[in-house]
Amino acid sequence: MSNQAVDAKALDRYECGACGYVYEPAKGDNKHDIAAGTPFEELPPTWRCPVCGARAKVFQNIGPVGSASGFKANFGYGLGVNTLTPTQKNLLIFGGLGLGFLFFISLYGLQ
Ligand SMILES: [Zn+2]
Repeated sequence: MSNQAVDAKALDRYECGACGYVYEPAKGDNKHDIAAGTPFEELPPTWRCPVCGARAKVFQNIGPVGSASGFKANFGYGLGVNTLTPTQKNLLIFGGLGLGFLFFISLYGLQ
């Protein structure tokens, strides 16, 4: 039982906070002679990101392969917000112009 738990945790991938490189325990790190199957926690203290050289402490646990559905859902939510934002901006801009135009017309009509 405990071995299964350790194995599950050993599959956790870690993403470099500096460059986005993802350390996958299943693949290891050829550049630093890290054998496939080495958990991130068992990397040597001197291990650095093979892409940008960042220290291991800037890496974030992003979970094992196949558990990214939550992250993907958040990503989709972010895209949804982003696609709505231009519309909201247009509404604000044209709404503002419309109000300004009405204000201008009302002033003009008073004179
Ligand atoms: Zn990096």
